[in-house]
Amino acid sequence: MVRKSGCLGNDMCPKGKFYLGNGNILLVGEAAGFLNAFGEGISCALSTGLFAAEAISKGIKSRDNALALYTELTKQERRQTKASWRLGAKIAGRDLMPI
Ligand SMILES: Cc1cc2nc3c(=O)[nH]c(=O)nc-3n(C[C@H](O)[C@H](O)[C@H](O)COP(=O)(O)OP(=O)(O)OC[C@H]3O[C@@H](n4cnc5c(N)ncnc54)[C@H](O)[C@@H]3O)c2cc1C
Repeated sequence: MVRKSGCLGNDMCPKGKFYLGNGNILLVGEAAGFLNAFGEGISCALSTGLFAAEAISKGIKSRDNALALYTELTKQERRQTKASWRLGAKIAGRDLMPI
């Protein structure tokens, strides 16, 4: 018997198509597009969760928009996620998530 398996992925992370939220809703982790190349997503799920909490907390105190604060706080994480996929593709010699 030949066993075949697979999983569904999306191109949010390699293409940098992050979706951080809308209005008072903030998305973190994979739902927002944070997943590093080779499927490492726990660290960015934790860090973006922490950034979301920080943005909400600061937003309540300063009355600034939490989504705008969260967007600013995740700048580096978004840059690193995109860079990890570029590096992964370079090492593998191919697009890691071809559509
Ligand atoms: C087989 C496998 C191996 C992996 N190995 C590693 C690894 O070694 N290291 C690593 O860093 N990462 C690994 N990852 C990736 C990592 O698990 C994920 O990137 C990480 O768990 C994402 O965290 P998250 O909180 O964003 O989402 P999730 O952990 O997916 O959490 C989302 C939660 O939301 C719940 N949910 C969904 N829809 C609804 C709804 N409508 N209402 C209420 N709840 C809902 C889900 O049940 C789930 O509990 C692996 C992934 C897989 C599939």
